[in-house]
Amino acid sequence: MTFDACPRKERPEFSTEIVNYLQHEQIPATFFVSGLWAEHCEAGMKRLAEVPYFQIGLHGYHHWKSSDLTEAVIASEIERTRSTILQMGYNPQPYFRPPYGDCPPKLVKVAKSLGVLTVMWDVVSGDPNPLNTTERLEHRVLTMTRNGSIIIMHVNNGGIWTAQALPSIVAGLHEHGFEFVSVGALLQHV
Ligand SMILES: [Zn+2]
Repeated sequence: MTFDACPRKERPEFSTEIVNYLQHEQIPATFFVSGLWAEHCEAGMKRLAEVPYFQIGLHGYHHWKSSDLTEAVIASEIERTRSTILQMGYNPQPYFRPPYGDCPPKLVKVAKSLGVLTVMWDVVSGDPNPLNTTERLEHRVLTMTRNGSIIIMHVNNGGIWTAQALPSIVAGLHEHGFEFVSVGALLQHV
């Protein structure tokens, strides 16, 4: 299970409800954090970093679409996010989640040159869509998830139904026999 923390202005920026639930269930989730989000939401960043089985990855500094950027700017988006999180005293993993899923070949190449692996997803929960419902989120995730799947949701409250849908999603996936691992643990099996 992965959760992006995007720098949105129009809604509260961090869902403690999601994190409390994940911690209560001891789910080793991975969070892709934008540098701007981390700066604006220090308490949220601290909260994520203090859970030992959570992993923190990178989600760009400004949350720009990579196709519009030069290779130099892509590199600085990755490095600035990494250095922002490091300066806050936390240690991000070398994984990059492209904002908006915009993943041109130049991004993968630049990330690789910086020792960073680009991490996409195969299961779209659809949680930023206000037209979705908890039932739709649950249905999508439970029908699409396979062994090794990476599920994308949002922890910055861009995920409108995420907190409400999460308990039934987790229960349903457990019923189907799935276990949750961090992205780092998943990569060890690739
Ligand atoms: Zn995002």
